[in-house]
Amino acid sequence: MYECPNCGGNLKFHIPSQKLRCAHCESGFDPYAIHKETDTVDGDCFETNVFLCPQCGGEMIGDDNDVTSFCSYCGSANILSSRISREKRPGFIIPFKKTKEDCKKAYGQKMKKAFFVPKELKNPDFVEGFRGIYMPYWSYRVSQKGDISLEGKTIKRKGDYVYTDYYALTGELDAEYEGFSCDASSAFYDNISEALGPYYIK
Ligand SMILES: [Zn+2]
Ligand SMILES: [Zn+2]
Repeated sequence: MYECPNCGGNLKFHIPSQKLRCAHCESGFDPYAIHKETDTVDGDCFETNVFLCPQCGGEMIGDDNDVTSFCSYCGSANILSSRISREKRPGFIIPFKKTKEDCKKAYGQKMKKAFFVPKELKNPDFVEGFRGIYMPYWSYRVSQKGDISLEGKTIKRKGDYVYTDYYALTGELDAEYEGFSCDASSAFYDNISEALGPYYIK
């Protein structure tokens, strides 16, 4: 929790302005300029509510009670059970870029052309349920040295035909990669998290 330097109110991240904003006096602050000398939370852990979905086992972390209305992973509307838990504090947080309104708009555009999509997915109540969730990622530094062999594939289309060429690639690799991101959630589909990443960790 960060306090407003002007009035002591709680600061929250405001997506459209990408600033920390005070709900009380409406001042905005650059998130990188706000520092806190001491924190009530010790070490690299913090205490929070963890909500558990009885259907899929997905876990959601948050102090917001509207997390309980449905599961972000499987959509189940079963009441989620919660417990207080000590969780590892993230090293970094990448703030939201898109507001809920932005997401609804982009989704609506897609749905206009999706003629065969089930009706439920176009239901305004369903769309109203959109919410941002924090996705935990591990960020790795990867180094690799030695021989590699990979399978290559190119696909091209000519008229009614699709041509696929397979070939073998071999060579030597001496590489280092910083910020290789893998999602740290077993409930979240890897193909989705991979489509979102990798993140620019700077
Ligand atoms: Zn204030
Ligand atoms: Zn679930």
